[in-house]
Parts: sequence; structure tokens; C-alpha cells
Amino acid sequence: MLSPIEKMLFILLALFAIGATYVGFRDMYLTINRGQGKLHFENLFRRAFTAVRVYITQETTLKTRRVSSLFHLGIVLGFTFYFLINAIDLLIGMVDGFEDSLKNLDGFGLVVYDGYRLLGDLLSIAVLVGVVYFILRRLVLPNREELTYHDGVLLHPKVQAGGQLNDSMIVAVFILIHVGARFVGEAVIVAQTGADPFMPFATLVSPLFAGLPAEGLQGLRHIMWWLALGGILIFTPYFPYTKHAHLFMAPLNYLTRPNRTSLGELDPIDFEDEEKEQFGAAKLEDLSKTQIFDAFACIQCNRCQDVCPAYVTGKELSPSALEVNKRYFIRENMTDLANGAESTWPLMGSVISESAVWACTACGACIDICPTGNEPMHDILDIRRNAVLMEASFPDELATAFNGMERQGNPWGIGESRFAWADGLDVPVPTVEENPDFDILYWVGCAASYDDRARNTARSLVKVMHAAGVNFAVLGELENCTGDSARRGGNEYLYFELASANVETLNEIAPRRIVATCPHCLHNLGKEYHQFGGNYDVIHHTELIEELIKAEKLPETARPTSWSNVTFHDPCYLGRHNDIVDAPRNALSSLGAELIEMPRNGTNSFCCGAGGAQFWKEEEHGHTAVNLERYAEATQTGAEVVAVGCPFCMQMFESARANTAGEGPIVKDVVELIAEQMAPQRVPEAAN
Ligand code: SF4
Ligand code: SF4
Repeated sequence: MLSPIEKMLFILLALFAIGATYVGFRDMYLTINRGQGKLHFENLFRRAFTAVRVYITQETTLKTRRVSSLFHLGIVLGFTFYFLINAIDLLIGMVDGFEDSLKNLDGFGLVVYDGYRLLGDLLSIAVLVGVVYFILRRLVLPNREELTYHDGVLLHPKVQAGGQLNDSMIVAVFILIHVGARFVGEAVIVAQTGADPFMPFATLVSPLFAGLPAEGLQGLRHIMWWLALGGILIFTPYFPYTKHAHLFMAPLNYLTRPNRTSLGELDPIDFEDEEKEQFGAAKLEDLSKTQIFDAFACIQCNRCQDVCPAYVTGKELSPSALEVNKRYFIRENMTDLANGAESTWPLMGSVISESAVWACTACGACIDICPTGNEPMHDILDIRRNAVLMEASFPDELATAFNGMERQGNPWGIGESRFAWADGLDVPVPTVEENPDFDILYWVGCAASYDDRARNTARSLVKVMHAAGVNFAVLGELENCTGDSARRGGNEYLYFELASANVETLNEIAPRRIVATCPHCLHNLGKEYHQFGGNYDVIHHTELIEELIKAEKLPETARPTSWSNVTFHDPCYLGRHNDIVDAPRNALSSLGAELIEMPRNGTNSFCCGAGGAQFWKEEEHGHTAVNLERYAEATQTGAEVVAVGCPFCMQMFESARANTAGEGPIVKDVVELIAEQMAPQRVPEAAN
């Protein structure tokens, strides 16, 4: 189709574009390579399958914002098909006679070609409509608010000045030109050759060109071909610098991200590596390769911000702003970074404010919701590690908790016996020395050991286990803090010491199964202690109760509860981090109470505000406290009881309830509700 001069011009332009694009992609690759560790390619087939599945189905995007996600799906499918369209259009333009050979197809070849034209026509419209929607969403639709940040969130100066809008518009205009020109070109072909039932939209538009002479139509075809394919060559060098790179960086992120036992499993630090001088992340190069990759994969959709309890309650933290800021700093410095220069902008203070770093509850919601597989929480906790381990700079209250864990084996810093919670119980609580042949080890945890309110959870579980004839034991004085608050609070060295000691104790005892009433203990024992040589089968107490009910070992639970309706708050480290959402509900159902769900439930639950070591410090400044926001949500269900499965959630809601002068729903652990249905004399009140 093209003249010899046009072909020469196209080849020259293509060579220039390939060279310029190579430089951009090379710098992108070298920048990612500045990070620590490695990208992951083990189990490549499985990873590739996941990456392709996520890309084609857009399942992670479709989880929320259904309307925008459907338009996005149309663009993704259309753009993907355009790889084929562009290849065929290139052959039509560059190879004489290729177009005629397509027209002369018959039999199966013709069927395929008809299908190709039909799909191309439909998907062109899907892309154009989708892009127009996204332009309107940026500029006028009410949901444009989703793409903004509240005051107080630290933003790169260019983001603050509206850089994201400019970037989005450049990409949108490119797509409109590229796909729009190709579509018009097809309509011109229809005007030349007559209506085509396999190009219904192009046929619909073709009368616009009906009056043009044959030369005019042919000239118009050439212009559209150049706009469509020449446009790609002009845009591709710019590609690595735009957020449009997520088109391939997002699937590649799924291909290369680390394997984690749970989305919140943090990477260990090798303290025995004597050459290691940096612990945690002070600057971009201290982050892992996958964390730098995240910045390129980010679609800048702010979905993570929507679900972040810190952001929602007005704190300075926005996980999306963190990724966006990273991207803008990288973009400004990509050539220098690629050439090995040290970054001069510390992460804390440049991509995230200090207050935001300490506002994270480590709930993992940002990771769970991210359509491109990003893990902003891990960046934040690595920045905390640098603050604690390298700069000894952290909130004062955390120092008290760290000291307590280090010296007394609990963050409260209480020196009394760890076993005092069992005082006064009229049922025996055997230790592992007294009952070495136990089936289940009950890991009590610091909260149920030392907190007056949480002790009733432990006492209730003991009652339930006795009623069901469970052969259990506890560690008693041998138990120590799991160190969860140390790890999420950035004190990885303290965590390393606590976890190593606990693993030594547990490996000596070799429990067949462990039951925990605290999801944070459950998570650390089951999902993180393997890093220190501890591999255990750990279940939550609600799972044990569910098992006992199924095995009909708890006949007393057939008695209905005195509460008519209950709502269950899913603790982040039970639901989202460990995917345990049915067991507590099944246990509650056995009581016959009506279970009312909060709008945010299951793995989409909203944090109570205690995680990420927040329990031990003042909450950062915002417009609402996280626990008040969640307790209000529970109250709005009309439930009489907020059932919990975590001693920290329990405390956060008790304190929120106190704020309502005790008028809101009462707070009970699931096992307390179960135990209440048993003979009351068997559970004496905790001796406070
Ligand atoms: S882990 Fe939770 S609190 Fe922290 S940034 Fe992510 S969503 Fe926000
Ligand atoms: S990190 Fe993920 S959820 Fe957050 S803005 Fe980027 S792509 Fe969206």
C-alpha cells in the first residue's frame, strides 16, 4: 500500500524509535536492578499462568469500581488485540500484494479473517468508548474524586502541580489518535469497497466519506495508516516514562513478585551477614527490586488509598501516594540511577512523611486490593526498620513496648507470672511438663496472659476445651512474646531474638498442633517463624471450635445465645492475612444468633486500629480514630454484640464503646459467647 518513499521513511522512523525506546527500557531495567535481592522466576510456568490470567480476566481490577473496571477491561482486550492488528496493518503497508491476498482468502482462512475484522471493529469501539470515559472521569464525572488526595498527604511537587492529569491526557490522546485513526482508516476502506457485515461500526461511519473521489479516499487511508502506526513509533520512546507502562509492568509484576506464605509475611534480615551495613530502607536503592518494580507497575488508581484505614480516617498516609511519589522521583532521576548514581532523596520525607510511616496499621488492605500486585505496606515497614535500627528514631511509646518485650517478654512490661491468667479456674490447665502427651498446645499470647479483659478469652477457651475433652497443654512460664509488635514496629533485631528463642522452645516440645486466640500470634507462629526454623500447624481458636462443633463434641452450644443478633469483626490478621473467615461465623451460627454483616467484612474487613504496633502508641493525627470508625460501622448494623476473634480488636472496641458511654453493642470474643452458653459455675471470673 505504501509508496517506496513512505516505506523508507517508516523504516527510518522505526529505527529511531527502536533506539530511543531501547534506552528508556534499558534505564528502567537498570533502575529496578539497583534494588536489593532478586526478582523471582522460580515456578515460572505457574507464575506466567497467573500473570496471563490476571491480565486477560482483569480479575484483580474488577474486584472494585465495577463501572470503571469494565471500561478498563474493554481497553485491555482491545489493546491486546491491537498487537495483532498492528502487525497485520504493518504487513499491509509494507508488503505489496499482502492486502489482496487477504481479500482473496476462502474457506477456513476467510472465516478467520472475517472474525478478525469483526473483533477488530468491536474492540476498536470498546477502546475508544473506554478512553472517552476515562477522560470524562478525570475531568468531570463525580468519581474523579477517587483520583485525588486529601491535604496533608506528602506529594511530589509535580504530582501536586497536576502532573498525573497531564500524563493521563497524553496517554489518552495517544490512544485516541492510534485507535481512532485506525478505525477511520477502516471506515474509508468500507467507503471504497462497500458495506462490510464484519465491520458494522466502520460501515456505520463510512457514509461520512462517501462523496470523496477515489484519490481522496486513498490519500485519507495513507494519512490514517501513518497516524495509527507512525503514532506508535513516536509514542514508544515516551512509553517507559508514563504510567502507561503498567500495561506490561503489571503482568510482569505478578510474574516476578516474591512468594509469601501470606500477603503480610515480611522478609527477614540476615543479622549474621557481617558485610551488611544497612538495615531497612533509607533510600530507593535499599528497597528490594520488586519494590522498585512496584512503582513502574502502579496504575495510580488509588484503590489502595480507598481501603487504607489510616487514609480513610484522615492521616497523612496514602499507599498510592507512596507509589506515585516513588515513580515521579525515579522518572526525574532514571538516567542517573541507571548509571549507578546514589539517590539523594531519602524515602522518608520525600516519598512518604514521617507521620505517615508511623500511621500504618500493617493491615495489608493495600496489598490485597492492588490490581497490579503492588505491596506498599512492605515499603513502609522497611522504612520503619531503617528508622528504628539505623537511626533509633521512633515514637517514644514504642520504646516502652520494645523494652517490655526485651526485658519482661511482653510489651506491657509486666513482671508478674505469665500464667496468672489461669489463677482461680476450677478446671485444670496443664503445662507441657504436666501433660507431655498433649494433642494441642494452647499458645496464650501476651494479651490473654496480661490484659484483664483479654484473660477471659483464655479462660473461656479452656472451659470449652475441657467441655469437649480436648487433650491440651500450655507453655506456662516457658511462653514468651511472639514479637509481632517488634517486627511490625520496625525492630527486626528484637523480633529475630524473640522468634529464635520461641522456635527453640517449640522445636524442643514439637507440638502436633497449636491453637492461638490471638491472630497476631497465629500469623507469626504459622506464617513467619518458618524463617527461623519453626514449622508448625497453627489454628485459630474459632477453627478449633468449628471442628469441635462439627464433631459434636460441644453439645452444650446447642443452647441458643441470649443475644438475638451479632456482627463479627474480621481481624486483619485472621481474615485478610490468613484467609480464615468462615470458622468464626460457623461457630457463631451454632449459637442460633442472627449474624449481621458489616459492609466491610471478610477479607475486605476494616482494621480496628491496633495492628502494626499501633496499639502501643498514640494514633497519628487525623479526623477520626480508626477504632471509632470501625465501631460506628458495627453499631450501624443494629447488632447487640460485636463478636471479635482477637484480644487487640477487643480492647480497641471496648475503648470505642467507652467513648459512647457504653451505649453501643457489647464486645465479646467468639469463645466467650460459646462459653457463656455452658454451665456458668465452671468459669469463675478472672482474678484481677
Ligand atoms: S497496610 Fe493498611 S494501614 Fe498500612 S498502608 Fe496498607 S492499607 Fe494503609
Ligand atoms: S499501588 Fe496498586 S492500588 Fe495503589 S494506586 Fe498503585 S495500582 Fe492502584
